[in-house]
Amino acid sequence: MNQYVLTFATGLLCSLLAKPLHATEQPNILLFLVDDLGWQDTSLVLTDKPTAANQHFRTPNIEALARQGVTFTQAYSHAVCSPSRVSLMTGQNPTRHHVSNWTKLPDSDHSGTWGPNAAPRNWRKDGLQPKDVSLAKILQQAGYHTIHVGKAHFGAYGTAGAEPKNLGFDVNIGGHAAGAPASYWGEKNFGNGMQGAEGLPQGVPHLENYHQKKVHLTDALTEQAKQAISKASKAGKPFFLNMAYYAVHTPIEAHQRLVKHYQNRTYSGTNVEENYASLVEGVDDSVGKLLKHLQSLGIAEQTLVVFTSDNGGLSGHSRQTTARGTELNSHNFPLYAGKGSAYEGGTRVPYVVAWAKPNAQIPLQRTLPVAVNQSSAQQVIIEDLFPTFVAVANASAYLPANYPLDGLDTRPFWQQPNKYQQRALVFHYPHVWGPHGPGYEPHSAMRLGDWKVMYFYNSRTWRLYNLATDLSEQYNLAARYPLKLQQLAAKLQQELATMQVQWPVNRLTNKDEIMQLPIDSKSS
Ligand code: CA
Repeated sequence: MNQYVLTFATGLLCSLLAKPLHATEQPNILLFLVDDLGWQDTSLVLTDKPTAANQHFRTPNIEALARQGVTFTQAYSHAVCSPSRVSLMTGQNPTRHHVSNWTKLPDSDHSGTWGPNAAPRNWRKDGLQPKDVSLAKILQQAGYHTIHVGKAHFGAYGTAGAEPKNLGFDVNIGGHAAGAPASYWGEKNFGNGMQGAEGLPQGVPHLENYHQKKVHLTDALTEQAKQAISKASKAGKPFFLNMAYYAVHTPIEAHQRLVKHYQNRTYSGTNVEENYASLVEGVDDSVGKLLKHLQSLGIAEQTLVVFTSDNGGLSGHSRQTTARGTELNSHNFPLYAGKGSAYEGGTRVPYVVAWAKPNAQIPLQRTLPVAVNQSSAQQVIIEDLFPTFVAVANASAYLPANYPLDGLDTRPFWQQPNKYQQRALVFHYPHVWGPHGPGYEPHSAMRLGDWKVMYFYNSRTWRLYNLATDLSEQYNLAARYPLKLQQLAAKLQQELATMQVQWPVNRLTNKDEIMQLPIDSKSS
């Protein structure tokens, strides 16, 4: 991705540009970052016609947001939480930033232990730390009031990076090292005092006022976010709000206020799927409330909104029968598999960009036009949000000189949704995550145009798919198109090398398990 590596001017130009612009020239930025929300987990139609999943989930506010802006139907994050979140904050691919797995304890590898390959020795187990470049710090320097609400999961327990305030956020509500709450319920103090699934303190901090009350975590975070926005709007500065829901990650506990919408319906779902859908609708309800709040404060026209998820939808474990009557690895259908996998279900996510209230007449929106009620097939990825938001905030002067960026400034596709730029999107997950199943093993993959190539380190095998004709990745074309496979494999290897790839380690030889290029048509 070296074509996206940008160099930024230093010196006099820097100091001239370094003066924060007046608030009216910088939009507020509201990022809705949902946890583990799958590509099909909303009523947004992202394919030719509505799917069973679209008809199952009720997300009218997300649909309304999409009508106000541009929906990207081929948007990606990475396979699991921390790698994506660090990519958002650094603008770099996990291959480069080396936080290649979710973070837990400092300097401690918790990757799975099955199969012939272990995690890279020096992956950044501590996660994002204060010494790193961070989007929040850059926006803060550019004059933004920076607010984090919800799940952080940037840095490991006990490290400075576990606290969002050490990473450039002025305000932190509810964020710490944990990747999930021990409970979503106020009655259970959001898991404080309980043992979480990770066996660590997973009680959500800062929300003591809601303890012992019948309130869902999503609602409590929404209320706190509204208050933070009200305060920010009075401060005379633009704000950046990273609205990072804990939902819809496990534990799949009902959003009590909403679960009735999914009970006793004709679909063959079970309690888990009813609860899951209520978690999704809770997020949608929150999106609606926060957009309404911006309207009531009179700042919706000055607020740019992006809605997305940090990885594909969970489908390898803990889920039950889908609305289609199918089982594991089908929750993201027509995509295959889910969170943690090399297949599309692991990384493809919903993605909408819009003004909170479109008004093409005001100068701010004339400067930063977003088409209304359009969709774009441009391939975008979570690290794009970094250069895009830096550009939106007019903050490029605060980037260090020669900072290697892998993300792309995606503003041109907001204005012209039909515009298309072919680019390589790289996915590198050199870890054993958890479940056994399709693609849940150490892998590297690349999307280029209609093609997707993937390499599995355990079996040293390649796979090739044409997503234009085979979105569900059911027909491996590696043997049929050996030349195409070799070209794409070489390109992937080159992209990985450019980003200083860390290889998995072979447990038998204790040496790096280096990617083996396909030699001839016998590769499979
Ligand atoms: Ca996640």
